[in-house]
Amino acid sequence: MRSDTGFAENENRMLSFLKFLRKNYGDRTGAVHKRKSDAYQVLVSTVLSQRTKDENTDRASEALFRLAGTPESMVKLPTKSIERAIRPSGFYRQKAKNIKLLSKILIEKYGGKVPSSRDQLLELPGVGWKTSAVVLSYSFGSDIVPVDTHVNRVSKRLGFADEKDDVEEVREKLEALIPTSMRYKTHLEIIHFGREVCRPINPLCPTCGMLKLCPFGQKRIQLIGERARKLVR
Ligand code: SF4
Repeated sequence: MRSDTGFAENENRMLSFLKFLRKNYGDRTGAVHKRKSDAYQVLVSTVLSQRTKDENTDRASEALFRLAGTPESMVKLPTKSIERAIRPSGFYRQKAKNIKLLSKILIEKYGGKVPSSRDQLLELPGVGWKTSAVVLSYSFGSDIVPVDTHVNRVSKRLGFADEKDDVEEVREKLEALIPTSMRYKTHLEIIHFGREVCRPINPLCPTCGMLKLCPFGQKRIQLIGERARKLVR
């Protein structure tokens, strides 16, 4: 059962977080705020982004789209060429297989178009909750909050979701707290914040503008202080 006090606390914390993001990252997401229109390339890039770093995804996507940028041209490419192009993204054999097969399905079932229904997206090989959410948000204007690795980590550290929550549970909790019209931009701002400040390893808690409201950051600062005190004893 949801605790109303806990939810109100989270609402207030989210309000402060949204203001903080807008102030610090609002102008950074202006250029990319315009949603990407090529659903196929968004879909393929998101498949490539699975279990790898952003820079590897970018390198693999650029190399692949230089060879083929539509389902029709992708199915004509030899699988070996796809593998070579996307190698930087890791798990390249499985990803190449999925990309080729999903391209074939798009042609055969959807006339070469990416479907805009979540259930249909989830039936494509290599497409899970996160990938379908990214495609719906970026390409079809859905007000869903895509939960990638940065959004997942930051949300849990700030106490908007529980550590044990899966990405769908994190998404539901964020959507209960973020107004519909702000979801797409906020998700981009969280990605910037997660890459630069609330990093997976060594987050910059001591100088973070959210420290006062962050349960994880508070604990970490306390731990750092205790370790430092032990060292000088
Ligand atoms: Fe992330 Fe630390 Fe800031 Fe919390 S205080 S949001 S853990 S960087």
